[in-house]
Amino acid sequence: MIRKATLLLFCWFWTIPALAQFDLLLKGGHLIDPKNKINQRMDLAILDGKVAAVAPNLEATLARRAIDLKGLYVTPGLVDLHTHLFNTPGLAGVWAGDSSVSADAFSFRTGVTTMVDAGSAGWRNFEYFRHSVIDRARTRVLALINIVGFGMINDFAEQDKNDMKPEEVARLAQKHKDIVVGVKSAHYQGTDWTSVDRAIEAGKLARIPVMVDFGYFLPERPYWKLVTERLRPGDISTHMFRGPVPYVDETGKLYPYLRQAQARGVKFDVGHGGGSFVMRNAFPAIQQGFYPDSISTDLHAGSMNAGMMDMPTTMSKLLVMGMPLQEVILRSTWNPAQIIHRPDLGHLGVGTTADLSVWNLMEGDFGFADASGGKIQGNRRLFCELTLKDGRIAWDWNARGAVDYKTLEPMYGIRKGIDHIVRPR
Ligand SMILES: [Zn+2]
Repeated sequence: MIRKATLLLFCWFWTIPALAQFDLLLKGGHLIDPKNKINQRMDLAILDGKVAAVAPNLEATLARRAIDLKGLYVTPGLVDLHTHLFNTPGLAGVWAGDSSVSADAFSFRTGVTTMVDAGSAGWRNFEYFRHSVIDRARTRVLALINIVGFGMINDFAEQDKNDMKPEEVARLAQKHKDIVVGVKSAHYQGTDWTSVDRAIEAGKLARIPVMVDFGYFLPERPYWKLVTERLRPGDISTHMFRGPVPYVDETGKLYPYLRQAQARGVKFDVGHGGGSFVMRNAFPAIQQGFYPDSISTDLHAGSMNAGMMDMPTTMSKLLVMGMPLQEVILRSTWNPAQIIHRPDLGHLGVGTTADLSVWNLMEGDFGFADASGGKIQGNRRLFCELTLKDGRIAWDWNARGAVDYKTLEPMYGIRKGIDHIVRPR
């Protein structure tokens, strides 16, 4: 009788860990969650892939596993609004296919959990893009559909007015509304507004924003008209710091049309890329308080191996130009999520999907290049140490999620009943 009671008592204690409230606890990090107005040291607990609790002090014993993040920043997983991901073997020989990168190969290691493909595919090949790339990625991939049929197959195809079909884009946007978040117009060389206007027509039909890469800057259709007259509130002007965009007058003062356009509700997106970011535009803009609504990369094989590199590098440039850290995080998380009408993303409120990133804000002497050979020096630089997607570790630079191998069972790393170690004679 006594023995049975002891046994029961033992079982009760033994099962306590299984009753842990949380799967994972991130302890001691400094949380920046602009949507929820948090900018302080906070613990964050995860259960079933969702944020389960956020509080100044949560006991480590409440979770099956706790990770110490003292000295590091915790933010929502980044939402990169401008990437190129149509990376399929079948598209060899065309530039968006050649230059596109694999989402999972570049996202998590740079703190990005959501990537928006900016019109690499058009309405003719979008469904192929979905099946061959989007549905196969662990990264959350969303997309803008290009107004021309085959998207960015080459610059020539993007000039074909007869292939710009608002109804087709809107039909697909409706059919794939779980992943289509906008329409893209890009690289147009004509002296008229056809590419922009057709994209806006599609945006109206599908009730989604339009992103314009203004491409070739021509006197017949000046940039200031695009942002102050043509685009609707909520539409996006990407490549905002591109060379031909007029920023400052002869005295160095910012042109008022930029703030007027932003006040109208037009969204200014960085879209750094391989040729769309010059310090001589970005620096005075940031210094005079004209901030991007969203920070994005225009990630492709060219830009990632040049001055752009990745989201942390692009964010660090704006940081060292004088933008406060919480503003940089806001414009890389909650702002882009709102721009694409996805309020479920870009923040860490209780109940949201646990997509988050952990950062080391390094101090030192760092050089940052723009897309045209310009350079600035800075003393801070963001470095991604840990990324969680759906509450699971997707990138772990410092092995915080692993344990000392000597504490594991003697023969760990062998699949029981499958692998056999055959010892040498
Ligand atoms: Zn692009």
